[in-house]
Amino acid sequence: EQLANQIAAGEVVERPASVVKELVENAIDAGGTAIEITVAEGGLDLIRVVDNGAGIEAEEVATAFQRHATSKLLEDRELFRIASLGFRGEALPSIAAVARVECVSAPQSDGLAQRLVIEGGRVVSAGPIGAPQGTDMTVRDLFYNTPARLKYMKSIQTELGHISDYVYRLALAHPGIAFSLRHNGNQLLRTPGNGDRLQVIAAVYGTNTARGMLALEGEHPDYDLRGFISKPELTRASRTALTTIVNGRYIRSFALTQSILQAYHTLLPINRYPLAVLEIGMHPSLVDVNVHPSKLEVRFSKEPELRAFVQETVRACLARQTH
Ligand code: ADP
Ligand code: MG
Repeated sequence: EQLANQIAAGEVVERPASVVKELVENAIDAGGTAIEITVAEGGLDLIRVVDNGAGIEAEEVATAFQRHATSKLLEDRELFRIASLGFRGEALPSIAAVARVECVSAPQSDGLAQRLVIEGGRVVSAGPIGAPQGTDMTVRDLFYNTPARLKYMKSIQTELGHISDYVYRLALAHPGIAFSLRHNGNQLLRTPGNGDRLQVIAAVYGTNTARGMLALEGEHPDYDLRGFISKPELTRASRTALTTIVNGRYIRSFALTQSILQAYHTLLPINRYPLAVLEIGMHPSLVDVNVHPSKLEVRFSKEPELRAFVQETVRACLARQTH
């Protein structure tokens, strides 16, 4: 069991950002409207995620750290058709196998919480404690018992870069959730959680950038698209910053990224890149999680149509602006 957890951990927990991803996704799934993320030393010393969501019942806290324990019904996840179910209920036991984890969770606002401490997969303490409603997960000393893995970690700045990049994109995908990200005592992000995506863009990329965004909107029998793309004069010389969201979830998609860039480059020099946040809604049967849910990659069943639609929507929006 211990070994199985360490093997699973290698799949799920590649680096500190993977822990942040799993914990924050759980907080979102729990319906949290405020999510506070605190990190120290690129996440290797400390990752703490506090939410005000549904919490975990006292008698289920320990179970949540066992393999394949998931309270989530398939329907909850049917925003996409999930091609591989192998990674459901793997995150918490995998993280607990390679770190020191403290979980405090209260399912009600009566102040009663359950606390569980697990180190290297072994429960070292459990019992009741007082806490506000929600879940508070603290992960310390990541990879302390897997030195080979620890050796592969890059600089603190690199690990932090992966974490902040991911949190920024989740914040962009969930403008209705108030996110806070702190690293070594510095506030890196704070979003209002009022549903206004442009305010999240301002929090992530700065107010000037937010002011220079064009609204995108498009309709299609199978898809609806909305979002923002930077005005041509504001584009960057090289770096791309494209965030793609499908059915409310941040995903990575070469097809969508290419469609945006192709539309952009029919009008603008090839060495300039836009900043864009694009949200597309579609029927769940039109999108599959491709191979590995933790990699966030998806496959669209009508990809050529989708590409054409996205490309045309972006092109038309930019053409209106430049003429
Ligand atoms: P999965 O998310 O695939 O169900 P996890 O290992 O990430 O698997 O979590 C196991 C279970 O622990 C979840 O199904 C959920 O019941 C519970 N859980 C984890 N984090 C939270 C949280 N922040 N709030 C409420 N419940 C949580
Ligand atoms: Mg999870």
